Amino acid sequence: MREIIHLQTGQCGNQIGQKFWEAISAEHGLDPSGSYNGDSDLQLERINVYYNEAMGGKYVPRAILVDLEPVTMDSIRSSPYGHLFRPDNFVFGQSGAGNNWAKGYYTEGAELVDSILDVLRKEAESTDCLQGFQVTHSLGGGTGSGLGSLLLSKIREEYPDRMLCTFSVVPSPKVSDTVVEPYNAVLSVHQLVENSDETFCIDNEALYDICFRTLKLSNPSYGDLNHLVSAVMSGITTCLRFPGQLNSDLRKLAVNMVPFPRLHFFMIGFAPLTSRSSQGFRSLSVPELTAQMFDSRNMMAASDPRHGRYLTVATIFRGRLSTKEVEQQMHTVQMKNSSYFVEWIPSNVKISVCDIPPVGLTMSGTFVGNSTAIQELFKRINTQFTAMFRRKAFLHWYTGEGMDEMEFTEAESNMNDLVSEYQQYQDAAAEEEEGGEYEEGAEEEYAAEEEAES
Ligand code: GDP
Repeated sequence: MREIIHLQTGQCGNQIGQKFWEAISAEHGLDPSGSYNGDSDLQLERINVYYNEAMGGKYVPRAILVDLEPVTMDSIRSSPYGHLFRPDNFVFGQSGAGNNWAKGYYTEGAELVDSILDVLRKEAESTDCLQGFQVTHSLGGGTGSGLGSLLLSKIREEYPDRMLCTFSVVPSPKVSDTVVEPYNAVLSVHQLVENSDETFCIDNEALYDICFRTLKLSNPSYGDLNHLVSAVMSGITTCLRFPGQLNSDLRKLAVNMVPFPRLHFFMIGFAPLTSRSSQGFRSLSVPELTAQMFDSRNMMAASDPRHGRYLTVATIFRGRLSTKEVEQQMHTVQMKNSSYFVEWIPSNVKISVCDIPPVGLTMSGTFVGNSTAIQELFKRINTQFTAMFRRKAFLHWYTGEGMDEMEFTEAESNMNDLVSEYQQYQDAAAEEEEGGEYEEGAEEEYAAEEEAES
């Protein structure tokens, strides 16, 4: 068994986490109490990746629920799926983080972190061969972003050889109007660059646009946004949860997707897009599904992939589809759009097919792309950050918790570096195209230079 421990932190982290567990429990044939009443052995074959088997044949999520205030967790506990989770794994404080990263990372969160790690160790000890951790959180608030970041660094320290991945919700003024969110987000990205192996970017700006433009919801709620999140999270984790060969654990996925360690921020997408009320959409053909998966309107990051290039891509098709047709369609997409894939990583597009569709659909496609266009998202946040930071607006809330202004400066420059690195690899491709073949002898020259240096 290769188990994953799931941690959900803060309001957003807990809300999307809960939707994730509801979605995958249904896929694995579990009712809200964790009893199995499914109809296919495939549902149980790898269920231990995400669930512990408890007495009485019940399955319990290997999940730890964390918050600095009790409200969100109370509502999870009193929801239909409230009894699915292990009661000891709810860890919460009373004070709240007041949308302040410093409270989550340095003060209130730091007080709670040891009791969270105790629960985490207990879960880790009872695993057979732990593959790693996944964290759901938002970057714009105080708990998920601040305490979430603190947990990442503690986990990294204690389990340096395990995979650490995050589902990180990026703030947008279209969805929330808390002014300091860009501060919290930049401080968090600074940590994610160093401590996360794989970050799936869930951009509220894109979720809002999908709800508003494609699904025609005039005033989307978090419930509507989170419906999209649960679809894409179930899609991404399909290969981890069901039998198959490709990208079947977090490390294999990372090996295929991350050519440079810092560049591990993925753009994700899903097709077909449905709203909560319009399940059971008309069924699609494989070409339609493939086209939608690569469409910028289906991306859950407000970055247009056509403004950048793909370093790597992983796609997950679900349903009773012809593998041959899927491969043909994917081949066609790549041929038609070859300029959008860097040519210096051959076969950088991976395809997995899983027979079992998500609940309520006959087929679906999930897209995971490591695109240099993700820099647009970071630039957006950075612009909002810089506008305030230049005047040191709202800084006293952070320095009041003991934070140094230097940390803001460092976070800002780390994020700028990240943007330049993406740009560098975007251009690397273009240069080569213009320049054509390398000159002969260039390689020898390079070798000689290196020798001279050493
Ligand atoms: P925390 O409890 O201190 O971690 O704060 P929040 O999780 O409430 O962080 C605020 C940010 O998360 C804002 O950008 C919100 O728009 C976003 N957010 C809060 N709840 C949800 C949710 O359920 N879904 C989504 N997609 N975003 C959320």
